[in-house]
Amino acid sequence: MPELIPVLSKKTIEEQIVGIARRISDDYQGCELVLVGVLKGAFIFLSDLVRHLTIPVKIDFIRAASYGSGMSSSGDLRLSADTEIDVKGKDVLIVEDIADTGLTLESLKKHITSLGAKTVKICALIDKQERRQTSVSIDYACCKVEKGFLVGYGLDYAENYRELPEVYHLKL
Ligand code: 5GP
Ligand code: MG
Repeated sequence: MPELIPVLSKKTIEEQIVGIARRISDDYQGCELVLVGVLKGAFIFLSDLVRHLTIPVKIDFIRAASYGSGMSSSGDLRLSADTEIDVKGKDVLIVEDIADTGLTLESLKKHITSLGAKTVKICALIDKQERRQTSVSIDYACCKVEKGFLVGYGLDYAENYRELPEVYHLKL
């Protein structure tokens, strides 16, 4: 039986999101901010985050699939859905579930920059540094986790566990 070891509680996630939302609201005061959520993993994080912001934002999604049903990033970015809002001249904040190797976020940042965004920054629920292969900066990170394959709160393993309200380390 797979084992689920608690890593981030509801309370921890909520506290971190409140703090990050406050920073984002301060930093983007008076800006035309577009949040670009990375599907599917960031859907719960993004929806909790926006409800703590105190500035107006627009919301879009992008769909990057580099994992299949495995546990590590191939680093070769495939977009299966692109943004719909015209981000030209706008401030964009990419909202991702996990920065692991950083390859996905680095490619996404390049992609959104190429669409003409004025600024592109990154917000991640979890900054997992153990396997980082790029120098891409995670401008807003809610939680730092050393290692392990995580599920829950939007994160899946082979499309399972996304609905769990907390984050767990999955041991197969
Ligand atoms: P990277 O390109 O940074 O290696 O990988 C980023 C993507 O891999 C994230 O968007 C996330 O979907 C997935 N990923 C990385 N680590 C984990 C993990 O521990 N659990 C899950 N479910 N996905 C992960
Ligand atoms: Mg992802």
